[in-house]
Amino acid sequence: MAYNSADIAAFKNVWVFCEQRQGVMMPTTFELISEGRKLANELGAELCGILLGEGVEGIAKELGEYGADKVYVYDSPLLKYYTTDAYTKLVCDAVEEFKPEVMLFGASNIGRDLAPRCAARLHTGLCADCTHLDIDLNGYIEFLKTGSSLDVASMSFDSKLFDVNSNLKMTRPAFGGHLMATIVCPRFRPAMATVRPGVMQKRPCKKDVEIIKPAFELKESDIKTHVVEVVKASKKLVDLIGADVIVSVGAGIGKNVQKGLELAQELADVLGGVVGASRAAVDAGYITADHQVGQTGKTVHPKIYVALGISGAIQHKAGMQDSECIIAVNKNDAAPIFEVADYGIVGDLFKVVPEMIESFKAAKAK
Ligand SMILES: Cc1cc2nc3c(=O)[nH]c(=O)nc-3n(C[C@H](O)[C@H](O)[C@H](O)COP(=O)(O)OP(=O)(O)OC[C@H]3O[C@@H](n4cnc5c(N)ncnc54)[C@H](O)[C@@H]3O)c2cc1C
Repeated sequence: MAYNSADIAAFKNVWVFCEQRQGVMMPTTFELISEGRKLANELGAELCGILLGEGVEGIAKELGEYGADKVYVYDSPLLKYYTTDAYTKLVCDAVEEFKPEVMLFGASNIGRDLAPRCAARLHTGLCADCTHLDIDLNGYIEFLKTGSSLDVASMSFDSKLFDVNSNLKMTRPAFGGHLMATIVCPRFRPAMATVRPGVMQKRPCKKDVEIIKPAFELKESDIKTHVVEVVKASKKLVDLIGADVIVSVGAGIGKNVQKGLELAQELADVLGGVVGASRAAVDAGYITADHQVGQTGKTVHPKIYVALGISGAIQHKAGMQDSECIIAVNKNDAAPIFEVADYGIVGDLFKVVPEMIESFKAAKAK
């Protein structure tokens, strides 16, 4: 029978597109597998990865460490490098053959290219840049109670849209981050979502993963682009997502940018961390965009996040408020950053930070 994305009952299981580069699994893949495990448990379904590449079967087992039940491996020299044509064809062919109910992609450059093409070709919906996912209605209500200011007790939920065991509830920032919107795809399958790297947490959950190698057709003539060479950027980018400590600077360093950056770097060095930034600091040219934390930057969960001269706009908080311990330094005692800070210091950062550096050095020397 012809593939029909509106035949909802024919679709089953949760799938994750498992991104790898040069045979190395991208960290986002493990984050999505962990989140996919949660959704599969809520659906009472299997969690499957789909992995494309050349010589990648060996890394498929790694997905079992985070809860994958099965991995569908598509191995071919024609998949050595990512090409839109080949990957779109094989992901769509696999969806038509195996009919997953939910499909997750990382919102990486590859995921942002691939997911919307697949959604359009498969005639289904895609919600980009999700920050929270639920199947179970009670879990979603719990999320609303803890993560929003809505009067949840007085709300009613349309049973067609919020069916406990059916629709994926995909929550993402909307209207410039000023509100959160929950989106469902009630009439078509798979429900597709992209999630930015670092947003979901990796949760180890060991499973005996089954590797499946489906037969597939891919010809050179299916691929319109030809990768001649891959040139890696020589610039060393800051690893905000993997850092345990981040010291971020904001527009508040403006009166002496060089000194402000030096202080942030010194504090980061003492604490064994890296330097992040607000968008205002990036837009002002104080620091490069790879340092940006927030809705349009990176989402981070370090053990310690230090905000220096950052007001705490909603778009900045969206990227750092899940940090384990937040320390804020701001000369304005009404700055919103203090609402999420565990420790708040009201004062001029150019006076406060040298004292912090000395105190941490003295404490480490003990
Ligand atoms: C669609 C959209 C996406 C966005 N994405 C992001 C994002 O990803 N990340 C992000 O950060 N922003 C983002 N923004 C911008 C965001 O709204 C704020 O404009 C930005 O976060 C402000 O940066 P800031 O706190 O450094 O600057 P400001 O808001 O100007 O705050 C500077 C702070 O420094 C304090 N200060 C000044 N001097 C000192 C001093 N000497 N000592 C101590 N404190 C001092 C001030 O009291 C003030 O609180 C986005 C906006 C939009 C509309």
